[in-house]
Parts: sequence; structure tokens; C-alpha cells
Amino acid sequence: MEYEPVIGLEVHVQLKTKSKAFCGCSTEFGKEPNSQVCPVCLGFPGSLPVLNRVFLDYAIKVALALNCTVQEKHKFDRKNYFYPDLPKNYQISQYDLPLSKKGYLDIVVGDKTKRVGINRVHMEEDAGKLIHEEDTSLVDFNRTGIPLLEIVSEPDMNSPEEAYEYLTFLKSVLGYLDVSDCDMEKGSLRCDVNVSLRPKGVLALGVKAELKNMNSFKGTKDALVFEIRRQEEILREGGKVIQETRLWDAKLSETFSMRVKEEAKDYRYFPEPDLAPFIISAQKLEEIKKNIPELPRQKLERFVKDFCLSEGSAKILVGIKKDADYAQSCIESWEGKDKKPVVNWLIGPLLFEANKRKCGISDLNIPGGNIELINLIKSAEEAKISNLAAKGVLSESLDTAKLAREIILEKNLYQVSDTESLDKIAEEIIKGNPKSVMDYKQGKANAIMFLVGQMMKKSNGKANPIVARDILKKMLTDGG
Ligand code: ADP
Ligand code: MG
Ligand code: ZN
Repeated sequence: MEYEPVIGLEVHVQLKTKSKAFCGCSTEFGKEPNSQVCPVCLGFPGSLPVLNRVFLDYAIKVALALNCTVQEKHKFDRKNYFYPDLPKNYQISQYDLPLSKKGYLDIVVGDKTKRVGINRVHMEEDAGKLIHEEDTSLVDFNRTGIPLLEIVSEPDMNSPEEAYEYLTFLKSVLGYLDVSDCDMEKGSLRCDVNVSLRPKGVLALGVKAELKNMNSFKGTKDALVFEIRRQEEILREGGKVIQETRLWDAKLSETFSMRVKEEAKDYRYFPEPDLAPFIISAQKLEEIKKNIPELPRQKLERFVKDFCLSEGSAKILVGIKKDADYAQSCIESWEGKDKKPVVNWLIGPLLFEANKRKCGISDLNIPGGNIELINLIKSAEEAKISNLAAKGVLSESLDTAKLAREIILEKNLYQVSDTESLDKIAEEIIKGNPKSVMDYKQGKANAIMFLVGQMMKKSNGKANPIVARDILKKMLTDGG
């Protein structure tokens, strides 16, 4: 029997408001532990929370960008549990009236678009942070009360790759909206992964495991690969997967059981009495909608349409807004109707150099700017210099801040394409290699490559190989 994985993700994102969700404490990262706290976020009796307006605005922005319906009526609820990083013993969250429901996010896997449903986007507050040392544990409440969004997907993904792309596209949308830095290492994006298997073709969902402790997108993908294999083995041996929470150990590359899953009723949710229910006006929604910029999906569709790109190439270009804008300016500077040469450079050598320097393509600051880049691509495209040389020129130009064309001149990289000087060399080579000429004439097509090689040698590597081959072919055919 063949099994199909079913995956749903619960993503928590810290929003980058200046102050916390329900008090005026700063949200700045990396400060002295417990220096950014007050009676409200420490849960002192008698203190009262007040909703941060920017938190609500950001949350609505994200909900709309994820195509969700924003509910008119809202309230907050208390989710009760005990844990040393939670001074109030409850978390302010949203239960039965979440901010928004029923949206979707279009992702591209390989070269195809897939729509992943969003079940809900709701607001809540973060807990503190426990720091475990050898024989003590410390708690830092600076993070307590920082605004979080929980974005819950439908169980619509069917492979680790799809989960990876979902996270990538979600991060991209949040980056365009400029509401979170989505840094998994700093804990500003965290993700719980739910995964189950079902026999292929069956609609009913299988029993899921929930994986926690993901600390990178790659780790999420690896954890899923492991967990899918684990569940498959259990099912193949006739066993049953149990519903539980498992932890991913990135070092051992395996998941292990943490606890049997708690249920909603364990949290004794009830309405937060200290925050009044409220209504979001149509006017407010309209205002926020107006300020949503062009999103990665729209940009992707525009790139596909205007520049005839594949979705796979467009996906690489649109992920980060300023890089996408840079790519667009380069593509627009390319005069030819076929944009492929410049696109191939953007997702090839430029991205390679950017990765090497741990930055985006827009941060490369190519000496001489767009004009220099476009001319370099043109030179390679017209075989005035070889592709390999062109890539080297880009790299050197970035390293030395010299203009590409200066490097080309300095290193004398222009290939000889003018037929007159190549004609001369070809004649000499034909004269000097009668055996290969004979071979070629007797049908050994490969022999011509040897002759081209000789021409390259004679010209110190500067003969344009395509032009050289054409000249040789012509001479050898015409010459009878
Ligand atoms: P819980 O109450 O355990 O948190 P939810 O119904 O709230 O479960 O769903 C949590 C996440 O798990 C959602 O992203 C959802 O898509 C996903 N999910 C639910 N059931 C399954 C399943 N059987 N297999 C995989 N994912 C699932
Ligand atoms: Mg859940
Ligand atoms: Zn506070």
C-alpha cells in the first residue's frame, strides 16, 4: 500500500511593534534579562492590560495579505496552563472568535503553483524564556507579552518540500508587509509541524504527531522526512501511530516523544475579563487594505506575464522585496525582447555571488551599476567574451570595485570573432594538421573539435570557438 503524508503547520510570528501587546514595555531584542518588564507583563494582581493598537493593525494586515476574512467581532481569551516562563499562569490568546479565518497562501513547488488553505490567524502574547544551565534554570521575562500571531494552515501539504515552500512564502509575505523579521534563530518565527499518513486515495485524515523545536526551515524539512518514514514503518508493520507531541533533535536527526498531546479542554479557555470585546469597522479594514503593498504572489504573476519567466525562476526572484525590485530594474534595462539572458544571470552568477557574500542580489553594489552589468551580460551573450570569463569578471569586479569593462581590457579577455584574423589562423591550422583534416573529410565529425582546439591554442585562448568552428567547417567543405 502506498501512503500519502498530510501536513499542517502552526506558525508563531513575533510582530515587530515597539512596545509589547498589552503594556508599554519595550520589545527590543538582546537586552539585559528582566530589564523590560512591568506589573502588567509580570502578571501582578490588580494590573490591567491595554491592547496595543499597532499590534491589531499589523495583525489585520497579515490576515488580509493571507486572503483571510477578518471577523467583525472580537474578544480575547485566557489559555490557562502552568509553566515557569508564564508568570500569569495564563496566556492571553483568542479561542472561539479569532481575528480571522479561511484564507489561503499560494506557494510554488518546482514549477507549479499550489494553494494551501489558512484555517485561522489569531493574536496572542508570547511567554518568557527559560535558560537552562548546568545545575540551575533561569528565566527571562523580557519576551513575556511580546505580540504574536498564530497562523494555522489547513492540512493541505503533502510533502516536506511543500512545507518548506509554505514557510518560505509565508516569510516572504511577512517581509513584504514589514511586520516581523521572521528570524528563526532569534525565535521571532517558530513553527509546530503536524503530520500524519493516510493510504493514498483515502480522504479521511490519519492520526497525527506534532513536532516541536524546529529551528530552521531546513530542519523542518529534515524532521518531516524522518517522521514520515517513522510513521510509515509503524503502519507497514500493522501498528498504530499515537497522537503525541514529539521533539526534533537536529543533532541526532530524529524525533522523540515528549508528551501525549493535551486537548483544548485542558486549557480551560475562558473570555479575558480585563479586555473588552470589540468591533473592527469596515473603514479601518479599508484603510489597512489600502496600505498593503504589491505582495510576492502578485509580483510573481507579473514577472511571469511581463517577462515570460517560468514560475520557478520568478519564485527565486520575488522572495525578498528589495531584491525583487532590483531584479525588475535589471530586467527592464535589458533591451532585447527575450529576457532569458539577464534572468539567467540574476538567478545564476549574481545569486551565487550574493550567497557567497551572505547578502541579497540588491546588496552586491556592482561597480558601475546596472549599465555595467547589462554590458557584461551582453558581452557574454554575444560571445565577445566567454561565459566563464564573464563570471570571473563579475566576481573580480565585486572584490576589487573595478568596473567590469576595465577588467576585461586589462586581462585582454575579448574573444577574437572578426573573421579576417580567424581566417588566417584557420588556414594555418588546416595546413599544419593534414591527418585531422582527412579524418574530418572522411566523416569523423569529432575531428573538427581538435582543429578548433588548435585554433584556440594558436590564438592564446581568445578565438571565439563558435565562430572558429564555423570558419573551419566552411573552409573544409568549400575546399572540396
Ligand atoms: P490541535 O487541536 O491538535 O492543535 P488543530 O485541529 O488545531 O489540532 O490543528 C492543528 C494543526 O494540525 C493545523 O495546522 C491542522 O492543519 C493540522 N492537522 C490537523 N489534523 C491533522 C492530521 N490528521 N494530519 C496532519 N495535520 C493535521
Ligand atoms: Mg494546536
Ligand atoms: Zn510590561
